[in-house]
Amino acid sequence: MPHIDCDKKFTNVALIDNIVRNHGKLCPKVRVQLLAPKFTTTRERSPKMYRHLSLSQASSTNCFTSVRLVATDMDGTLTTRGKFTSALLQALEDLARADFKVLIVTGRSAGWVSGLVSYLSVVGAIAENGGLFYRSGSETPVALTPIPDFVAHRQQLTAAFEQLQTKFPHIQESFDNRFRLTDWTFDVQGLSTDELQTMSHLCRKMNWGFTYSNVQCHIKPLGQDKAVGLLQVLREDFPQYTKEQVVTVGDSPNDESLFDERCFPVSVGVANVLEYANQLQHQPAYCTSAAEGEGFCELARFLLQK
Ligand SMILES: [Mg+2]
Repeated sequence: MPHIDCDKKFTNVALIDNIVRNHGKLCPKVRVQLLAPKFTTTRERSPKMYRHLSLSQASSTNCFTSVRLVATDMDGTLTTRGKFTSALLQALEDLARADFKVLIVTGRSAGWVSGLVSYLSVVGAIAENGGLFYRSGSETPVALTPIPDFVAHRQQLTAAFEQLQTKFPHIQESFDNRFRLTDWTFDVQGLSTDELQTMSHLCRKMNWGFTYSNVQCHIKPLGQDKAVGLLQVLREDFPQYTKEQVVTVGDSPNDESLFDERCFPVSVGVANVLEYANQLQHQPAYCTSAAEGEGFCELARFLLQK
C-alpha cells in the first residue's frame, strides 16, 4: 500500500508521480478518482484541487488515528436519496457505542433540527448553517449568531428575498422557511451556477451572506457559516477535543468551510461532493468511494475498524 503523507500538498500529477516512482503501480480506483476528465480542463486546474484520496489510501496514514468526534452535514451526506436508511441509523448507534461523538451540522431549519436531535444517536446538532445549536437532551437552542430582534430580522430577510425576486421572479420560498429563525431559504432546483453566483453578489450588496446546498439556497447573516458555528460549539461544549480529533464530513458548497484545512485538518467528502469540485474554495482532504449516506457508513466502518 503506498504511503501518503497527508501534510503534503499534492497536485494530482505530483501525487501519481510519487506513487508510481515509489511503488511502481497505482491503485485503479485512485487513478480513476485523480484522473477523472471532468477535473482536467485548463479552466478548472487549480492548486487547491485534486487532493481527493480514497479512504483506502488514508488507512496508510495517521490522520484518522486520533479522531473521536464526527461533525457531519445531513442532506446528501447522512441521507440516501433523501432518507435515513437502516444502515445509517445502525452506523450512528455503532459510533455512539464506541464513544465517538457525532454532531450534525446542517443548513436545515431550527424547527426540523430541534425534533431530529431528540430522535437520533447524536450529541447535538447545529442548524441553519451555523445559526443555532441544539444539545441532545435540551429543548433550548443556543444562538450562535447574535440577533437582538428576531421579528425585525425576519422582516429584513423577507425584504432581501423580495429584492432577489425582482430579478428572479420564479424563485419560491422553501416549505421549511416558516420554521427558521436566522436565515431565509428558497429552492435551488432549476437554478444555474451563473444564477447562483449572481444571487450571491446581490446578497453581498445588500449586506447579507448567501450559500446553497443540493436542496436549498440560503440568505443569511454575513459571517454565519458552518465552520464558525462548529468552532464555537467545539470551544464551548467539547473543549477536550483537539482539531486533530475532529473529522468533518459534507457533500455541498455550504459545507466548504468545513473543508478548510486551517480549521479542520481531517475532512471527508462523500463521493457526491465531486459534482461540486470546481465550485469549492476548500476541498475535502479525503473522499469516500460511496455516495450520500452509504459514503458516511463507509467512513463509520473505517473509524470503527482503525
Ligand atoms: Mg448536504
